[in-house]
Amino acid sequence: MSNEELFKEALTHFPGGVSSPVRAFRAVGGTPKFFKRAWDCWFEDEDGHTFLDLCMSWGPLILGHSQPAILKAVAESMQEGLTFGAPSRRELALARRIKEMVPFVEKLRFVSSGTEAVMSALRAARGFTKRDRILKFDGCYHGHSDGMLVKAGSGLVTFGEPSSAGVPAAIGELTSVLPLDDFGALSRYFDEHGMQTACAIIEPVPANNGLLPQQLDFLKTLRELCTRHGTILIFDEVISGFRVGPGGAAEMYKITPDLVTYGKIIGGGMPVGCYGGRKDIMGVVAPDGPVYQAGTLSGNPVAMAAGLATLERLTPDFYASLNHRAVIWAKVFERIPGVHAPHIGSLIWPLFQEGVRRSDAVKTGSITQFNKLHRLLLDQGVYLPPSGYEVAFLSGAHDEKALQHFERAVAAVAPMMAGS
Ligand SMILES: *Cc1c(COP(=O)(O)O)cnc(C)c1O
Repeated sequence: MSNEELFKEALTHFPGGVSSPVRAFRAVGGTPKFFKRAWDCWFEDEDGHTFLDLCMSWGPLILGHSQPAILKAVAESMQEGLTFGAPSRRELALARRIKEMVPFVEKLRFVSSGTEAVMSALRAARGFTKRDRILKFDGCYHGHSDGMLVKAGSGLVTFGEPSSAGVPAAIGELTSVLPLDDFGALSRYFDEHGMQTACAIIEPVPANNGLLPQQLDFLKTLRELCTRHGTILIFDEVISGFRVGPGGAAEMYKITPDLVTYGKIIGGGMPVGCYGGRKDIMGVVAPDGPVYQAGTLSGNPVAMAAGLATLERLTPDFYASLNHRAVIWAKVFERIPGVHAPHIGSLIWPLFQEGVRRSDAVKTGSITQFNKLHRLLLDQGVYLPPSGYEVAFLSGAHDEKALQHFERAVAAVAPMMAGS
């Protein structure tokens, strides 16, 4: 069946025809590509066309699609069983590797998604501090648990409002939402509510509303205010962890959070998340402590094997080479008239605007232009994430041949974007 036919049927099965909303292509228009198979930085769709992938499953595939070493590790572990619902040595191997790369993680717990990691870290923070309020930042995404689907309330109130139907107002009120990059709002908040706030959660490299690089001082100030008020600082590194460098954003900025959440890369393409950090805080988690959190498939041996095979290959040299290549790819993006492509590590955000550090600074006009660019590049065999608010992901598999393909595509679309 063609993409078109498959999508028609998908619409009869799933809301919007998809298993996760942004995949529906509503933002950019057109029919979503149905992936048939993928290798390195390429995939073939069900129409038999080949594309250069710059979305890479939204981040997990830092080494590329279908890497032989990972497939081998998965196959080997599969031979020994798909799931045990009991401890297995592979959990220890992945935990050891994570702690080696991120020394401030003293204890951790594996879960099955980033959403679950965040939800569980918030509960641990509340259990440890015996406080209910949580603080988040507008423009950061932390998965879809109720308390995180909250936006800033209107006017001067500090209490948030649900950003999704189905989230009770009472839950929204327990989350406060501040703008990024606003030092004044941050210190006012802590003056008034710091002592009632269980935790502050932030993406240290906000990469879910475009890429919104924060000033180092903003993150440092947040760290200090948290320490002073007994508020737990959670870095949500589900994207940035093992992406921007071996120790993630925490190491890059030399700021140590109390808890951290990971996902995406640590599963090597399989569903894994984890939360961890200070051992006194993790001590509240069951069965050691009173905070309940569990999972039938948590620590799944096959997923652990895929994660370990990935992390074992993430050496300082690997990052140096990948991050260097990202600079080159970002420059190629900027050959398109009007495009600025801020980048951190191997995350690149092509936008028709410059110097954006807050979500409310993104202009709808630049998103409209992105949508056009998305369609034009797709025609040239380049697959960008299907939304202007998403970043592009580079992997170790984006080699010289891929770069040449990308340069050709950019040369073809650049005249069509000029003056638009
Ligand atoms: C992707 C992401 C999540 C959610 O992870 P899922 O595995 O999609 O549930 C949470 N936080 C951040 C920063 C993410 O990028």
